[in-house]
Amino acid sequence: MLITVTTTHRPATDLGYLLVKHPDRAHSFSVPTGTAHVLFPEATVERCTAALLLDTDPAALTGTRHRGGRSGRGTTGTPEGFTLGQYVNDRPYAASSLLSSALSTVFRSALRGDSKDRPELAATPIPLELRVPALRCRGGADLAERLFAPLGWTVAAVPVPLDPRFPDWGDSRYVDLTLTGTLRLADALNHLYVLLPVLDDAKHYWVAPDEIDKLLRAGAGWLADHPERGLITRRYLAHRRALAGTALARLAELRLADDPADQDSVVEAVDTGADEEAGLPATVDRQPLAARRRAAVLAALEASGATRVLDLGCGGGALLTDLVRNRRYTEIVGTDVSSRALAMAERRLRLDRLPARQQQRIKLWQSALTYRDDRLRGFDAAVLMEVVEHLDPPRLPALEATVFGHARPGTVVVTTPNVEYNVRYPGLAAGTLRHADHRFEWSRAEFAAWAGRVGTTYGYTVAISGVGDEDPEVGAPTQLAVFSSATPSAPEQPEETA
Ligand code: SAH
Repeated sequence: MLITVTTTHRPATDLGYLLVKHPDRAHSFSVPTGTAHVLFPEATVERCTAALLLDTDPAALTGTRHRGGRSGRGTTGTPEGFTLGQYVNDRPYAASSLLSSALSTVFRSALRGDSKDRPELAATPIPLELRVPALRCRGGADLAERLFAPLGWTVAAVPVPLDPRFPDWGDSRYVDLTLTGTLRLADALNHLYVLLPVLDDAKHYWVAPDEIDKLLRAGAGWLADHPERGLITRRYLAHRRALAGTALARLAELRLADDPADQDSVVEAVDTGADEEAGLPATVDRQPLAARRRAAVLAALEASGATRVLDLGCGGGALLTDLVRNRRYTEIVGTDVSSRALAMAERRLRLDRLPARQQQRIKLWQSALTYRDDRLRGFDAAVLMEVVEHLDPPRLPALEATVFGHARPGTVVVTTPNVEYNVRYPGLAAGTLRHADHRFEWSRAEFAAWAGRVGTTYGYTVAISGVGDEDPEVGAPTQLAVFSSATPSAPEQPEETA
């Protein structure tokens, strides 16, 4: 069983850092179903390919070896006991749930999106090609297309003939699958982890209830809105109706959190990026801008070394969800003036279901950015993601004083639309802003002028960049500024004692 992952992102050999496997060596791991090998058939600056090969051990597959071992899907034993089918079958050759389970063991941190050495790259969509030369695919090549295409992949699924010498015999139940796209490696691996067993649809495994959590974790950010989520959930949970019902109910709840009818339209539109993506041809920017923006903000936070962070104007909590997943953040506070937004964030984070220790890492506070709030002082970093443009311009100096003067985190990351880019959205009438609640949108020069002035006033250096595909004339759709405190140890003096 074989999967290959190729990137042409330069230097392509950074793939080794993301997978935590050195490209110059072959690596072998004992997994519950046999031995997994990772090797790099090509590793140049231009192009690098990692291959995951699973060598199954027939004795392990009968269930005698893996009791008490790590229980990836399909490795938890076969309660029906020995059958000849377990020895005489395609298991050694065809990609299936066994490969998916090996993937989760061997690339564990890459699946979580963690990378000690290349955190920014792990959070960035990169050009990828995934190849699964022999994939057991119940439902045929069409189903592979229906499952992967909505996730941003270009899908080539070629049915493998039963026997090339006898075309009349028709196709086997295998396809040769190639996926190409620009995605985060973690997303790509999670897609494979969930969808390989779904396509395989081998129903004879015993599926434990904790598989629901595994599915929702791996499906975070893409499964709830997938048009085939019903089929994916039922097959992944091996047609155990009660489990699939629970999982679908939990997914529906996640969708509810994104339903415009259920919340302030402002939050929703920004949250999903729907306002901005409306007029965009699918080929221009397949990864939603909102996701790229979050990735850029997360990369800036990681680069700053922050561990205690504020998400100011957190809205429905999309960024908070990403922050919570990353253990480097020991304290995460989301604030918003809207109690509805906070309630949504609380639901999305599933705070009530987290273990007590995790709950303590996260706080949600109602707070208006135009008033000083002592609770906000002493943090390493603060994020203002798509917030400033929601304030009337005369209120901006109050926000500046609250954040840069009073709270004074070491780093402040600000994103806001680039109004010049609006001409590239065919659905947006000339002169209109991207969202009805935006009080203004800045050109690149206006944003740079504001950031420069705030930096000078409050003692921060500023670095400005763009998020999304850079247009040669009008720039990138989103502007991002990272403010770094020049004098971290000189907080604002309280007036009374100054
Ligand atoms: N940062 C989130 C939400 C952006 S929408 C994201 O990018 O997904 C803007 C958010 O700012 C809304 O949730 C709105 O309630 C909040 N907001 C607007 N004015 C505010 C103020 N004066 N104080 C605090 N939050 C404010």
